[in-house]
Amino acid sequence: MDAVSATQPLPYRGRLAPSPTGLLHIGHACTFWIAYQRAIARNGTLVFRNEDLDPQRSKAEFARAMIEDLHWLGIRWQEGPDVGGPFAPYEQSARRALYLETWRRLRDGGFIYPCTCSRKDLATSATAPNEGDDEPLYSGRCRTRIGEAKRYDSPRGVNWRFLVPDNETIAFDDQRQGRQRYIAGGDFSDFVVWRRDDVPAYQLAVVADDAAMQITEIIRGADLLKSTARQLLLIRALGLPVPAYYHCDLVRDEAGARLAKRHDALSLRALREHGHTPQDVLKMCASQQSNCTIR
Ligand SMILES: [Zn+2]
Repeated sequence: MDAVSATQPLPYRGRLAPSPTGLLHIGHACTFWIAYQRAIARNGTLVFRNEDLDPQRSKAEFARAMIEDLHWLGIRWQEGPDVGGPFAPYEQSARRALYLETWRRLRDGGFIYPCTCSRKDLATSATAPNEGDDEPLYSGRCRTRIGEAKRYDSPRGVNWRFLVPDNETIAFDDQRQGRQRYIAGGDFSDFVVWRRDDVPAYQLAVVADDAAMQITEIIRGADLLKSTARQLLLIRALGLPVPAYYHCDLVRDEAGARLAKRHDALSLRALREHGHTPQDVLKMCASQQSNCTIR
């Protein structure tokens, strides 16, 4: 499989898609600033999508903080939960009907199967996997259940996995990181598209939303490069258009560790409270990322 990035006759539509599971930190600021600048440069539309899919981890206070902090930084969007728009709602928690329809299409197409392996074996997450704690490889033990899929009227109660084409190379051209190649069944395996606790998985929701919101370019951190390979398989299975991809360099702390939400000292909120200005934050971004430009 060789995903050719969309030649873009469509009007440019980018998106900011944070999860309200903590405060945004400087790494998010850099990625979202780049997304903002690229949308402006293309006279495009920027969409803000609240990825509050995980009911346990998502908090309304963090959703409010995301919007406030990005506004403070100077980022503006044309569509989002705060401003509305033609593809509302812009909160994933309100978009379940679309995800269920997507699950049905995958089930009917023979692309997914119910996995009844114990919870203990399978620690999966509905949020974006982080570098170093990527979704673990799955043995494929429940692949034989693919024939049972059509007996399910609802995804509830089991994990649903996408049957990946073993040994197929998934390749794509990333506009920042260059040519990428991943081997299905090697670099990643049958990934979860719906969790047994009845929460759609990140991969399914993002693919469904990006297509429904007509996103033409996806800008996010390089920790999600491998997820792009998974999402390209979903896009193909669902017959959706392939967007362009731009994965930003990861921002690291002084010790070289990737920034995570636990780096509270580097949250935009903390930087602001300590008297840093938006310009200070953007200078920090530019010092980390050669592709981050400050106006
Ligand atoms: Zn299983």
